[in-house]
Amino acid sequence: QQAEIGLIGLGVMGSNLALNIAEKGNRIAVFNRTPSRTDEFLGEAGGLAGQIIGCHTIEEFVAAIRPPRPIIIMIKAGEAVDQQMAALLPHLAKNDIMIDAGNANFRDTVARFERLAGTDVTFIGMGVSGGEEGARHGPSIMVGGTEESWKRVEPVLTSIAAKFNDEPCVAWLGTDGAGHFVKTIHNGIEYADMQMIAEVYGILRDGLNMSATEIGEIFGQWNKGRLNSYLIEITEKVLKATDPETGRPMVDVIVDAAGQKGTGKWSAIEAQNLAVAASGIEAAVSGRVLSSLREERIAAEKLFGLPALAEAPKDKAAFIADLENALLAAKIAAYAQGFAVMSSASEEFNWSLPMPTIAKIWRAGCIIRSQFLDEITSAFTRDPDVANLVVTPAFAAMVKETDAALRRVVAHAALSGLPVPALSSALSYFDTYRRGRGTANLIQAQRDFFGAHGFDRLDGKDVHHGPWAGQF
Ligand code: NDP
Repeated sequence: QQAEIGLIGLGVMGSNLALNIAEKGNRIAVFNRTPSRTDEFLGEAGGLAGQIIGCHTIEEFVAAIRPPRPIIIMIKAGEAVDQQMAALLPHLAKNDIMIDAGNANFRDTVARFERLAGTDVTFIGMGVSGGEEGARHGPSIMVGGTEESWKRVEPVLTSIAAKFNDEPCVAWLGTDGAGHFVKTIHNGIEYADMQMIAEVYGILRDGLNMSATEIGEIFGQWNKGRLNSYLIEITEKVLKATDPETGRPMVDVIVDAAGQKGTGKWSAIEAQNLAVAASGIEAAVSGRVLSSLREERIAAEKLFGLPALAEAPKDKAAFIADLENALLAAKIAAYAQGFAVMSSASEEFNWSLPMPTIAKIWRAGCIIRSQFLDEITSAFTRDPDVANLVVTPAFAAMVKETDAALRRVVAHAALSGLPVPALSSALSYFDTYRRGRGTANLIQAQRDFFGAHGFDRLDGKDVHHGPWAGQF
């Protein structure tokens, strides 16, 4: 009996996705570049092996799937995908669909979509979030492609997606690169969220001299409150874990240099391209870059020393409560920025990205899943075209309640020399966004002074240059 769907790439994500697909009652054919991995995978599949057809050649793989064939490609992003697509294309027939489920740059997805537009085969660019666990038991899935191709894959994707209150966390978000764009911004927000959590950890560790286990306890408490989320939950687990080699807290033996694969950087770049302020995401990407300069940082610490800590907060419990609220306030800024980037991209690329739906499908399955996203869903459902999440009634109330805590935390960190680039960027974002009279009047005057760029006057008079002719 032929399979209903095929999957190429039995790495971490592909093998788990294949098991998830098989478990939901779909017959699936699988193929991997290195054939021994296919055999190994069939061995790991246990009771699900009967639903899986392992193939060692592309010919065998294509023949094992019932036409018209949906084929998921879940391999290393970049050139590997183009190579795999080129190898696959000659074997495919009318109405077959290639689905790139890796972390593609959406610009590559748009190019691939256009390249296949002249052939019998359709292309879908699909963002999948949730890591290994999500892929196995229910990821959040962001789909871009034609509506017709989406309709064909909707049943199988719905069956494997995570569920939030019985609603599947999968949606068609628009044509060509829409799915991969949204996945990229998801990852950008994830970078910001992780950076802000790490900054708060730094204040507790280096400012209050707390142990990893004690800090883990605090995150555990926070996970019961408004910060309830997967990232806070795993932060508690990570902080409480012990290194089997040394018996010390696991985090205390891990090198403080963060890796990155590109999606955070792409979010920051696309935000800049669209002229949307995404300072939280940018701070997080720069934070990872600086973290990787470990040798330089160690040398600089020798050169400059560390600033003395500010006087310890008088009421430690109140300061810890401030940290919780500061994290919430900063998180609001990061999500507001991420959604603003998507809103602008939606116009720029003619996608009509559905904001409430995006928030909805991020509520479960993905790495940034949280209670908070349910509140974002409600806010965008009420007001889908709002300019900025922070001005929706529910979030405005939250900002008013928490921004003073963010200010105290950033001030304390600054006086103690503890780096908080993402938290402080959030504070500056709020402070800039809510000030009706800013300081760009001076920048406009300077631009006009040296470059005759012109300015608008508050009184609307039709005079656009200052009295500085001949002064430069
Ligand atoms: P792995 O490193 O575990 O697996 C990589 C897979 O890609 C292997 O099957 C490998 O085959 C295949 N591959 C590599 N190069 C080629 C090539 N030139 N031609 C054909 N196949 C190739 O990666 P992951 O499963 O972690 O990631 C897969 C994709 O999913 C990536 O785009 C990643 O960014 C994305 N992703 C990953 C997440 C994660 O948490 N890990 C989460 C969400 C998305 P072989 O066995 O022959 O080497």
